[in-house]
Amino acid sequence: MKYCRFLYGGQVQYGAVESRGSEMQIVGLMDAPEEDLRFRIERGSATPVSSSFEPIPLSEADLLPPVTPSKIVCVGRNYREHARELGNEIPTEPLLFFKPPSSLLPPGGAVVLPAVSERVDFEGELALVIGRRTRNLRTDDDWRSVVRGFTLANDISARDLQKKDGQWTRAKGFDTFCPIGPIVSGELDPDAGVTIETRVNGELRQQASTRDLIFPIPVLLRYISAAFTLEPGDVVLTGTPSGVGALKPGDRVEVSVAELGVLQNTVKSEIA
Ligand code: ZN
Repeated sequence: MKYCRFLYGGQVQYGAVESRGSEMQIVGLMDAPEEDLRFRIERGSATPVSSSFEPIPLSEADLLPPVTPSKIVCVGRNYREHARELGNEIPTEPLLFFKPPSSLLPPGGAVVLPAVSERVDFEGELALVIGRRTRNLRTDDDWRSVVRGFTLANDISARDLQKKDGQWTRAKGFDTFCPIGPIVSGELDPDAGVTIETRVNGELRQQASTRDLIFPIPVLLRYISAAFTLEPGDVVLTGTPSGVGALKPGDRVEVSVAELGVLQNTVKSEIA
C-alpha cells in the first residue's frame, strides 16, 4: 500500500496512491495513520474512504510531508564510499543524530540556504517510517513488523557549520533542511537491494544500492530502539551514499527510488 499527505479542499488529507502506468495517482482519501496506533501496513490496495473521489495525478497534488514525526533519527556515514569521501574512518557502530521536525520540507518546496553557511550539501537517503511503538527491538523480532513503509529524504547539511560546531544539531537542523516524500510505500524490499539516486539539475550525482549499507536496517532499528522509544510516524534516515556536493540558488535536486517516485526540491538563498 502507498499513501501521501496533501491539501485537498483546504484541508490536510491522507490519500491512497496507486501506480497507473508510469504515473502515480491519488485514488482516494484515507484515515490519518499517525492517529491510529493500531495501524498496520496491509500489503495490497487501500480502501478509499470516499467513493466520489476523482483521481488526481500525484504530480498535480498540493503535497505535504507524508509524515508528522515526533523525531527524525539520522544515521551518519552508513556507506563506505561516503565515509571515505569526507575523509572519515569506517564506523564500527552506527553514528546517530537528530533533525528537528521543524526542518521538514514538502516535495516541491524550496531549500533555503542560510546566510551563515557557505557550503550546503545535498544527501539523498532512503527513509523508514515507523508503524508501531518500539523499544529494544530484539534480534529475533521481525523488523518489518515495526516499519510502516519507506519514503525518500534529503539530509541537507551545512557542511562548514558541521565541522565548525563540532556537533551537528545546527548544521543539520535548519528550517527546510529535511525535504521528504512524496509518498510512503510498504511495497519495497531493501534486503533485496533498492537503488537510490540523486540528481542535481538533471545530472546523476549519487547512485547506490541499499545492499551497500554498512549497518543494514534491522541493525539500525535495534541500535536506535536500544536508546529511545520509536513512535508511530517517526522517521529514520538510513544514511547517504557517496557523491554528496554543494547546492547553489536556482538548483533543482531530485532524490529517487523507482518504487517511491521522485522527491524534487528547488534551492534558494536566504539573502534576497
Ligand atoms: Zn545524511
